[in-house]
Amino acid sequence: MKTGYLIDMDGVIYRENQLVAGAVEFVEALIASGTPFIFLTNNSAPTPEDLSVRLRHLGLPGLSARHFYTSALNTADFLSETHPGCTVFVIGEGGLLAALHEHKIANDALQPSYVVVGEGAASMEKLAKAHACIERGARLLATNPDNWCPVSSVETRPGAGATAAFLEASTGRRAYYLGKPNGYMFHRARRQLADMAAGTPEPIVMIGDTMETDIRGAIESGLHAYLVLTGSTQLESVGEYVYQPTRVLQSVADLTEEIRSGQPSSRLDSPVFRHSAAQRSRWGNRHQTDGEHPQKPRPRAPMTR
Ligand SMILES: [Mg+2]
Repeated sequence: MKTGYLIDMDGVIYRENQLVAGAVEFVEALIASGTPFIFLTNNSAPTPEDLSVRLRHLGLPGLSARHFYTSALNTADFLSETHPGCTVFVIGEGGLLAALHEHKIANDALQPSYVVVGEGAASMEKLAKAHACIERGARLLATNPDNWCPVSSVETRPGAGATAAFLEASTGRRAYYLGKPNGYMFHRARRQLADMAAGTPEPIVMIGDTMETDIRGAIESGLHAYLVLTGSTQLESVGEYVYQPTRVLQSVADLTEEIRSGQPSSRLDSPVFRHSAAQRSRWGNRHQTDGEHPQKPRPRAPMTR
């Protein structure tokens, strides 16, 4: 069976509204070779159709809605599978609203089964309504654990994890976080990949730039995990994590030749790469779930006083 790929977008295919060098040839090789692939993103704001248009404008034609799986779709899949007939109060953008609508999950601002939190759309008025719903018994569900999302190399915006954390603080209830690294995200993406390939590809490779979501989720789901250095992770910091990528690549361009030829490239056997872009240091965890698997060892308690 052919290898299948799950591919993160920001920091892997594009960065700051610019395609990563070699991304066009990489995607062309995937399409030309008939390799099954899906772009996997924690961003719950866009629909798959929005994403295919966005990539077309960036210079990647030939992609359709079936090539994308978002945390919004994952949330709608989760609710319709685990709680048919449930109702929701939503704080989120079009991609999340459309996914829930397509699964016939009804909105309810009075007594919903869940408050569902995605990217954007938060206002104090909506947060107050969501807070009241949770106080009345609604469960809190977030599309993904990202506290912040990169807008450019110097700018960020608040993510769904930050909105969920607000409601956790105000209600004292813990949220459940879907999206990467949650195994349900990888489970359903694998299913979509199998539908596309008319059979489950083997092996399945996750390509991502973020250790806490892409690499951790892939490892925990039994997939191969390829880290690319075009995004948020520098090679020097990889050793700080308990979970490790199965392969480290400079960029997706390093895979193009082996996808074309079907032969692994020996050039990639010694991952002695350098990443020149300066990484910003930020206080706090990037994702609400990062604390479950702290990547840095705790300092050992002093043996004597
Ligand atoms: Mg990324």
